[in-house]
Amino acid sequence: MKNLKLNSLLQIAVGVPLRRYFHYLPPEVKGWENLQPGMRVRVPFGQRELIGIFTGFTSQSDIEASKLKSIISVIDDKPLISKDILELCFWASDYYHYPIGEVLAHSFPLLLRQGKPLAIYQDHCWCLTETGYNVDFVTLKRAPRQIELLSYFKKHPQGLSAKQLRLQGISNAIIKLASRKEWIARRASKSELMQEKMNQPLTLNIAQQTAVSAIQAASNIFQVFLLNGVTGSGKTEVYLQAIANVLQDQKQVLVLVPEIGLTPQTIQRFRERFAVSVMALHSHLSERERLNAWGRAHSGEVRILIGTRSAVFSPLPHLGLIIVDEEHDLSFKQQDNFRYHARDLAIMRAYFKKIPIVLGSATPALETLHKAQQGKFIHLQLPERAGAAQLPQFSVLDIRNKRLEEGLSQPILEEIQQHLQRGEQVMLFLNRRGFSPILLCHACGWMAVCKRCDKRMTYHKQKQRLHCHHCDSQAALFVQCENCGEKELHPIGLGTERLEYALRKNFPHYSIARLDRDSTQRKGSIETLLQEIQSGKHQILIGTQMLAKGHHFPNVTLVTIIDADSGFFSSDFRALERMGQLLLQVAGRAGRVEKKGKVIIQTHHPDHPLLHQLFHESYQQFATTLLRERVATALPPYSFFALFRAEAHEVRHAMHFLEEVKKLFCPDSKALQWLGPIPAPMPKRAGRHRVQLVIQATQRPTLQNFLKKLLPDIEKMGSKQRVRWSLDVDPMEMF
Ligand code: ADP
Ligand code: ZN
Ligand code: ZN
Repeated sequence: MKNLKLNSLLQIAVGVPLRRYFHYLPPEVKGWENLQPGMRVRVPFGQRELIGIFTGFTSQSDIEASKLKSIISVIDDKPLISKDILELCFWASDYYHYPIGEVLAHSFPLLLRQGKPLAIYQDHCWCLTETGYNVDFVTLKRAPRQIELLSYFKKHPQGLSAKQLRLQGISNAIIKLASRKEWIARRASKSELMQEKMNQPLTLNIAQQTAVSAIQAASNIFQVFLLNGVTGSGKTEVYLQAIANVLQDQKQVLVLVPEIGLTPQTIQRFRERFAVSVMALHSHLSERERLNAWGRAHSGEVRILIGTRSAVFSPLPHLGLIIVDEEHDLSFKQQDNFRYHARDLAIMRAYFKKIPIVLGSATPALETLHKAQQGKFIHLQLPERAGAAQLPQFSVLDIRNKRLEEGLSQPILEEIQQHLQRGEQVMLFLNRRGFSPILLCHACGWMAVCKRCDKRMTYHKQKQRLHCHHCDSQAALFVQCENCGEKELHPIGLGTERLEYALRKNFPHYSIARLDRDSTQRKGSIETLLQEIQSGKHQILIGTQMLAKGHHFPNVTLVTIIDADSGFFSSDFRALERMGQLLLQVAGRAGRVEKKGKVIIQTHHPDHPLLHQLFHESYQQFATTLLRERVATALPPYSFFALFRAEAHEVRHAMHFLEEVKKLFCPDSKALQWLGPIPAPMPKRAGRHRVQLVIQATQRPTLQNFLKKLLPDIEKMGSKQRVRWSLDVDPMEMF
């Protein structure tokens, strides 16, 4: 094919780490006339055969025409990736400067990336038949297993999945037998559609009503809403009623929640309200389940899709509303590889699709609040708790010079005692897991340190191990000091495990639940613990920030914050914002129904104005103070950052690489500022030295244009071979 016609080259995004498209000729054989953007194609790539996404026709290629190859085949007969997702991926690739092939690959399940067809595997379940229902148990006297099976089915008239039967310990043989006798029959599972009880909508209060109406009024246009309601103000009820309106128009809804927020209780709340297919998309799904979920969203069958970060790319042809719950949550930002922010991408998605999006939070990110103040987002406020619940009473407890027993002051111990005696639950928040953050030699002052990170290792008493919380490496517990050989090693400082020991000693007659990364390692253990807390099995709850995330524990009346001060000492400019959000979210777990809640905050800085604003004024006041500081220091949201990171086994390689990057732009315009290269806040992690280069601009486009010019040159640099490097646009963790 010598004379290429205009626009007869195929532009293909291939899932490789290169910031470019690849060009191919049409296949020799027929079958590509119907080719449309978003379809998968098989292409020769070097020695390999890869799968790419066709993104459009073009007339130009930087490859000589004679060297162009033909694609091998077209896989799909309809676009797999819809127009709005393609647009979203193009935008994301551009904005985050991440290879388009990998961005697209991120947007659909592994099995499809491997070229498998988009088939939906219908889940089946077994149901009791009329015959099965009428079996007389007397005739089965000598077959207890058959009786067990029939009784179990009678308790579940909706049917049972193979998995449920397996969990119940019912063997395949007995299922086959029952099926042969026609006691049970297979049918397509509709378990998501059928709930035994449906919940009715609540009567909204005026603030909620105003919010729902405003969202409904925007049903066919792009509009961002910030639903800013104090904890327990009924944001979820607003979501549910806004969703009801969208479902009536036969449209689909996407709900993004933080990682820890996607609990069975959350999903249940949606399923109990709507008689439509509600699907959850999370990291515990198997690849086949993921493909199924994707396919059912793609076909329009799923009406409400609830998912964590990556669900922002879900195919939803009739999407009519997006909700981002707890929009300030850090888990929406992907912290490795493709470093996107799901909330920001969700906004872009709503923009491309021309639909409304609701960002909900009691403690919005300063970036979001700023946009609402500028009038770019509509600010909906729910200033009071819904129903009979009131906001908790806050008291700041000065612990300077107070005797502390494993971090607990006497007034706190007394308060806990009172609440427990009344049959209520108490919650203690400490954002540090393990027994103690330091293991110290009493003789010489030596401390156990992770050799791969140069940071102290945390002592875990239960496991009798030392654990580095930065790189996850573990070591056996030292029996003697590595430096002087003495055996007197002391645990210094307080972690959740130690707090648990202290509480067990003080309150031996109560049951304690500890919720942190160590106690919830096993799959499903978070769900179990949450359920046990809800049912009242445990009276004392200890936890890290896992406890802070949106849980509804009606019987918790006391929340104590063991150490409110850690946020004051971080070098990250976002540390105070995060501290405020976390403290208010934790505090928000108290008194969520009729019984009024109490929050006690232990601090060495009782007069700190920010603590005062947070607890005695409002988050708005607190945020306004922080925003004023951000203006004065020209920090986000009043400026924009990009961060180059480099890691290498030798620090000079990482330094050298970023020095070279910096040389590329030193003469550039005054609209940019930079800092570095300097060692990262964690200068070494998992044996690699880490260096960073920060770039700051007062205008987003300035920064974007600059990065666009810079990247092709970086790609050509030889020094990049010796490092692992990345670019983070709008980094959430830095300095
Ligand atoms: P948020 O998400 O803002 O923390 P939720 O939506 O979980 O708050 O609501 C907190 C509690 O208030 C829930 O128990 C909910 O059922 C109740 N609630 C919400 N709206 C109303 C209302 N309009 N009337 C009565 N109770 C309500
Ligand atoms: Zn020693
Ligand atoms: Zn380490």
